[in-house]
Amino acid sequence: MHLSRFSRLHFAHLPTPLEPMPALSKELGGPNLWIKRDDCTGLAGGGNKTRKLEFLIADALDQNADTIITQGATQSNHARQTAAIAAKLGLKCHLLLEDRTGSDKVDYNYNGNVMLDQLLGASLIKVPADTDMDVAMKSLADDLGSEGKKPYIIPGGGSNKIGALGYVNAALELVHQANSQSLKIDHIVHATGSAGTQAGLVTGLMAMNSQIPVLGIGVRAVKEKQEGNVFALAERTADYIGAPGVVKREDIVANCDYVGDGYGIPTDGMREAVTMLARSEAILLDPVYSGKGMAGLIDLIRNKEFADDANVVFLHTGGAQGLFGYREAFNFPAYD
Ligand SMILES: *Cc1c(COP(=O)(O)O)cnc(C)c1O
Repeated sequence: MHLSRFSRLHFAHLPTPLEPMPALSKELGGPNLWIKRDDCTGLAGGGNKTRKLEFLIADALDQNADTIITQGATQSNHARQTAAIAAKLGLKCHLLLEDRTGSDKVDYNYNGNVMLDQLLGASLIKVPADTDMDVAMKSLADDLGSEGKKPYIIPGGGSNKIGALGYVNAALELVHQANSQSLKIDHIVHATGSAGTQAGLVTGLMAMNSQIPVLGIGVRAVKEKQEGNVFALAERTADYIGAPGVVKREDIVANCDYVGDGYGIPTDGMREAVTMLARSEAILLDPVYSGKGMAGLIDLIRNKEFADDANVVFLHTGGAQGLFGYREAFNFPAYD
């Protein structure tokens, strides 16, 4: 597995730290908890999409694109990171933001990632929930193409075989770090959405024969659909890196019991997890992904799903900028 065979730009701050969480481990009385800080990838707030964009934007430049089109929910971290790298490279960026939650809150619609998208100079288009986003992006690309622009479409979450290479690379990085710290990782847990993170990670780990199981905590789809999406992309990614068949269906495991009422809708478990991580480790999670992922991990620890002496790594996929879109979900008291 030699990733230098693929076009890539280098703008992420790598390697991201791999740190212990002693206070949280103590508070939960549970396994040894570690955190892989992919919230610290550096690009205008960072997050997991930055690793994918190193490969995706390289491909866009190979194709002489001058305009980037992508999509996400209103508070999409992927959209914000895409706007950031486009700004840095002088590319025009169009973001189609799907109104998935129907929230009419001012913070949700204008603060957090949305404010940063605007600050970074992207052009924003709001589209109704359940729009076919791929069709909407294609039609925008056709319009821009007829004006003489060279648009490049990045799928939602940057999740295709090119973007997933970012997480194949993250698997190499994490195993290398663990080896040099003599840390035997028993489990990796992270939030899974558009599937690219888990697909790339599992493909990299399996291609290395690392034997480390990955558990994705779903934030939107039901288990069957989520695992199916991740597996399909993992198969394509494995083919792409020249390791066909290296990922088996049973290597893809998602737990989708922590979604609550739907994508981007706060849950009590999320509020508890975000608050607990802030107050025990001074780590900022996000309300949509890492907060629900950590809520799942905390619940599974309480249910004794992990051995007391296991080493569990939580992959922090970023997103804290989204907190500012969700101020009211935390309902903090007035002060005077
Ligand atoms: C996009 C995102 C995820 C999910 O990653 P996928 O590759 O889409 O599955 C997790 N956490 C955060 C903060 C994200 O922005």
